[in-house]
Amino acid sequence: MEAKWQSMVNHVQDIHEHGTPAFPCCAHPPLEGEARDKEWLEPGTTAAIKLERVTLRTALVKDVRKLSPQHQTYSLEAFHSLIIHFAPKHTGFSFLGMYSRLLMAALHFNHNSSREVARTSDGEVRYAVRYPRFCKGGWVVRPIKEKPSYAYAAALMESLSEGYSRSPETLRESSAVLSSTAPAPLSTSCQEIAKDEAVGLYLARHSRFNTGN
Ligand SMILES: [Zn+2]
Repeated sequence: MEAKWQSMVNHVQDIHEHGTPAFPCCAHPPLEGEARDKEWLEPGTTAAIKLERVTLRTALVKDVRKLSPQHQTYSLEAFHSLIIHFAPKHTGFSFLGMYSRLLMAALHFNHNSSREVARTSDGEVRYAVRYPRFCKGGWVVRPIKEKPSYAYAAALMESLSEGYSRSPETLRESSAVLSSTAPAPLSTSCQEIAKDEAVGLYLARHSRFNTGN
C-alpha cells in the first residue's frame, strides 16, 4: 500500500513505472491520446516538490501502510469481471436477459464473496502469480480462494418450482410485470436527419481543418 501510495507522486509527473516490486507500475491501462494529454507536473518544479513533501509525510505514510491492499477496490474490480463472465460483451442481450444476468452475477458474488483462501494439504496458503495486461510485463501475487459454489442456483430453481406448484398464475403475472418494465430500444429516441443535411453540418463544423489544403 505504501508503494502504491508513493507511486502517485510519479503518476502526476507522467511516470507510470515505479521500479518497486510491490507496485511495479500504475494500475490504470496504458495512457494514449487524450488520456496522455494532461497537465502533468514537471519533475523538479516547486509544485512537484511541494506535493511530494505533503504526500510522503512520515505520519501519513505510516497510516497508509495500514490500509488494506484488497478491500478498497479489489472486490469491486472482481465484481466487474464477474459481470463480464455472466454477460459477455460479444453477445447482445435483451433488456430482461441483461437484467437477469446482472442479478445472477450479484447472487454469485454475494454467495461467494466470503470464500476462504485455498490451502495445501499441509495447511499452507496457496498463492498465484498473475501478469495483468495493464502491468506491461509486471506481476502481482494473489492468494488463491477456494472453488466457487453454485448452491444459490439450486436454491433458486427450488423456490421457482415451489412458486409454480403453489400458483402458476402468480408466477405468470410476475413475469408479465417484469416484461412490461423493459424500456423501448435506444434507437427509438434517435432523431432522424437527411444524410445530405448531416454531411453538410459535419463539413461546416470541420471546415477549419480543411482551410489551406
Ligand atoms: Zn500512472
